Amino acid sequence: MKSNVIHILIIIVAVVAGGLLGKNLQTKQMELSPTRETLSKLPLGGFHKFLADVEWMLFVNYLGSLNTVNDDNVKQVTGRLKKLMSYDPNLPKIYQEGAAMISIADPQETVKILDAACQNPTLKNNSQIPFYAGFVMVQHMTPPNYKDAIPYFKMAIERSGGKDQGNAYYTSYYYRAKAKELAKDKNIDDRHALLQVLYDEWDAAALNSRGDVPSSEFNSQDMKERMLQVVRSIKNPSEDYKPTEAAVKLADEVTKKVFSDAHLCHNCTAAYGPGDKYCSVCGTEIQVYGLCPFCGGVHESGVKYCPKTGKKMP
Ligand SMILES: [Zn+2]
Ligand SMILES: [Zn+2]
Repeated sequence: MKSNVIHILIIIVAVVAGGLLGKNLQTKQMELSPTRETLSKLPLGGFHKFLADVEWMLFVNYLGSLNTVNDDNVKQVTGRLKKLMSYDPNLPKIYQEGAAMISIADPQETVKILDAACQNPTLKNNSQIPFYAGFVMVQHMTPPNYKDAIPYFKMAIERSGGKDQGNAYYTSYYYRAKAKELAKDKNIDDRHALLQVLYDEWDAAALNSRGDVPSSEFNSQDMKERMLQVVRSIKNPSEDYKPTEAAVKLADEVTKKVFSDAHLCHNCTAAYGPGDKYCSVCGTEIQVYGLCPFCGGVHESGVKYCPKTGKKMP
């Protein structure tokens, strides 16, 4: 209660001080350029931004007085958020922090608010807002709406430039949502679906044709690492997961096509070295590589001449 009073006092002081400062500045400005006043009688934009800041402080204060946002008060909280938006629709924290407050009690309304912010040209470089819209759909809606979340995750990836660390996080959600949709459509398990999604996107990127997302947005090394992880989880499943024959078949195909240069054991996907005939992890016979065409031995990588025959390496 005491902190509330202090909050309100600070706000009143801020409002009064801001008003005085504004008036003072205006007088000073008038001295400098008397025509200025006729040019802009109402500094509405600035004033609304100021109101939005005050309203935001009041909003945070008001939220502090609630134990939780639930069915009883969500309409009221939403109303205050909308009032904030009417003062300054370009304030990112309304969406990034404010919308989070109602996302559990009213995910549909949250997505509506976030969607409007996604279309706002001033916020067009903000990748967190579209990500959050997708996140609310898969995390807070019952049942999760993966299908409609996909375009938001895609937007977040595009806006983040596909390079920073946030992107890897957005990309995980994007692939996962696509996999969930595919799993439902094809009636296959999540892991199998995820591998199919990654493989399709890799294929599209590798062919340099337009995939669902432009291939340039994806780091293929990142995709390969993701694929290898899923391949390994299918080929060496933990006890709680029994892969179907089709899943294993796909994992084999991916190993052959995507990891042909990585020299992975086709049975267990462990990496092996030049000249190895058997996998050191599972004992399976593997395809030998790295033998000298002249003497049949294994040489250090990068040698110019065969040390046994003196012939120039191709
Ligand atoms: Zn092996
Ligand atoms: Zn040799």
